[in-house]
Amino acid sequence: MIVGVQPLAGFDKRLHYRVPETLCADVGCGSLVRVPLINRHRLALVTEMDAIPDCAPAKLKLISSIVHPFPALTPDLLELAEWMRQYYATRLETVYETMIPVAVRKGLRVKQEKYLGVSRPVPPDELAELRKKAPRQARLYEFLHQQFRPQKKSLVLTRLGLTAAVVAALVKRGLAREETHPVERTAYTDSWAAAELVTSAPPRLNSDQEAVVRTVSGGLAAHKFSVHLLHGVTGSGKTEVYLRAVEETLAAGCGAIYLVPEVALTPQTVARLRGRFEAAGHRTVVWHSHLGEGERLDGWMALASGAARVVVGARSAVFAPVRNLRLIVVDEEHEPAYKQDETPRYHGRDVAIYRAKLARAVCLLGSATPSLESTANARSGKYLLSELPRRVDNKRLPDIQIVDMRIETMRSRGLVTLSRLLVNHMLERFERREQTILFINRRGYSSSLLCQACGHVEECPHCSVTLTYHRADETLKCHLCGHEWAAPAVCPQCRSPKIRWRGMGTQRVEEAVRRLLPRARLERMDTDAMSKKNRFRQILAEFRIGKIDVLIGTQMIAKGLDFPNVTLVGLVDADLSMHVPDFRANERTFQLLVQVAGRAGRGDRAGEVVVQTFTPQSDAIQFARRVDFNGFVEAELAMRRKFGYPPFRHLIHHLFRGPNPEKILFYAEHWVKKVEAALGGQVEIRGPAAAPIERVKDEYRFQIWYFTARVTAVVAVLVRLQGESTWPDDVRQVLDVDPMSLV
Ligand code: ADP
Ligand code: ZN
Ligand code: ZN
Repeated sequence: MIVGVQPLAGFDKRLHYRVPETLCADVGCGSLVRVPLINRHRLALVTEMDAIPDCAPAKLKLISSIVHPFPALTPDLLELAEWMRQYYATRLETVYETMIPVAVRKGLRVKQEKYLGVSRPVPPDELAELRKKAPRQARLYEFLHQQFRPQKKSLVLTRLGLTAAVVAALVKRGLAREETHPVERTAYTDSWAAAELVTSAPPRLNSDQEAVVRTVSGGLAAHKFSVHLLHGVTGSGKTEVYLRAVEETLAAGCGAIYLVPEVALTPQTVARLRGRFEAAGHRTVVWHSHLGEGERLDGWMALASGAARVVVGARSAVFAPVRNLRLIVVDEEHEPAYKQDETPRYHGRDVAIYRAKLARAVCLLGSATPSLESTANARSGKYLLSELPRRVDNKRLPDIQIVDMRIETMRSRGLVTLSRLLVNHMLERFERREQTILFINRRGYSSSLLCQACGHVEECPHCSVTLTYHRADETLKCHLCGHEWAAPAVCPQCRSPKIRWRGMGTQRVEEAVRRLLPRARLERMDTDAMSKKNRFRQILAEFRIGKIDVLIGTQMIAKGLDFPNVTLVGLVDADLSMHVPDFRANERTFQLLVQVAGRAGRGDRAGEVVVQTFTPQSDAIQFARRVDFNGFVEAELAMRRKFGYPPFRHLIHHLFRGPNPEKILFYAEHWVKKVEAALGGQVEIRGPAAAPIERVKDEYRFQIWYFTARVTAVVAVLVRLQGESTWPDDVRQVLDVDPMSLV
């Protein structure tokens, strides 16, 4: 037999090999094998069976070995890889390497251990005899007899202080049995998650939930591809719906993938899932970036062999080798974290949808604030829309109060961190021993001009994105179209000189809170704290049991947390996410506000939300305050249509970088001419323009944007043109299809 293989060692090319007789039964499409190639045995993936080579078969070399007994990639994953290669303009090898964990590629084996158990019950008189003749063997037998299941041999011997010879003798006597099993390492066991695993019985679904479950069940039973968008307000019981869908899938003997934006940020969800499925006897594989190689290998093997049929994880779990896949859940589908920001730059949600299509599975997307893309697809009938408009038990959504920081600033004649309203509410909570969360927007990018007096923000008239303020040369630049203006000294709208305002950091807020509530227990959680993931979980655990009164953090803590004693949530600077040079800035702000509000009032007491902003009149804030999703969508879609942004067209980002700015700009300009000649009316090109962060590590960055309705065709042409061009080594460039962030 002759097969086509794709080597994984930097060869972007398919090669042919013969399969030796002894391996014929095991080698199949997607098998990971080793092949002789340039004096070494290299890893390769079998991508074609019964191939027809372009030379005499006798000349072909033989495959040397097979790495795992089952395929590393199933047929649907092989096809998915091909789609990703084309859609995301990347190399097949890169996609394979993303799909197959390193531990699997290395051919590591799952650790095996010896276990001991009794082989038959011994009648009392025979046991008494044994006690006399061989007391140590008797002791071993009695110990093993008391256990429910076979025990690790090494542990038994240490515990009883016996040697392997005793075991051998007992085995020889036919009373004990030695077995070899793979060791199960359960990823993500910490005391807190483990404690939560013991869950109460599943709640009875309310009628809204039942209706959704019925629709999804219909899709599952039909064994046809469908995408469901579940739009449910925070706390409406979406997770419960996902759980039922997974349970149904497992009951039908099939497999499911459950994606969350970030495992470390959703410990409660993960614990809840594991609690539910493991109670029903289904091993649940947890898949995230902090796994050790051994843990990852175990999980992968369990799924590939069919021993486990459900996996929970962040975006890369979409590639898990789940057999008989029938369901993919994408929780918080709007989250930008689903997009990978390095090659291959894929979007986990979109890949999930394509994989579901290949597997004729159901893809269930859910969010309290679905993305505009998914909403548009639901409106056009491409996705089936289900809604959960009420919180479980009809609990009220918290009231959102907007504080106009322009007025606060005017009253105090200086910069205000905490408004009077927020201060009063916080004092109240502290007295009542209730908890508060204060959110600060991620610092990152705050170099926009915002007038503290009137809330005016400088925007590009052509692109409807906030302009970036460059302090060095006092200019305002648009990073989409490249236009440049002199920065105004006073606000063009109200003539106030207070137009250079920047956001406030976590630290400043922390100091303000300490002054306000010196006796309160306060914790801060930001990206720095996040790098120590155990600290992060520890803080959440302490917050949960009430050891902390006020928690300050960036929006990363807005996700999926459910704390019944939190009755006040403050968003300190709503403006920062709104005034960034990104057309999705409004969408992000709306989502942030709604999610943040969803953290309050989860328990029996009603919650309150205070939002501080200099631009209270903006759409994102006004619609979020009314939790008017449809109103927001209408306004936002109108803007997107006007400027031709997604979901009306696709966007492709092309970054050029290198040490010499003139040279890069020259190549970028030249390139634009080439693309214009080749694609003409099929694409609208903006740029080259300086990237928002113009210089990173001594490299200058310019970018080109392509707007198109025909993304696949355009990407294909761009890739072809790239291949035909010669680039100097110091001009590097990368394409990003459907980028999620413009800054
Ligand atoms: P969401 O995912 O929409 O935020 P969850 O599924 O987490 O909502 O539900 C919120 C809370 O309500 C959870 O504690 C959950 O256990 C509980 N819950 C969900 N469905 C029901 C129900 N039908 N009856 C009672 N409690 C429920
Ligand atoms: Zn002004
Ligand atoms: Zn512009």
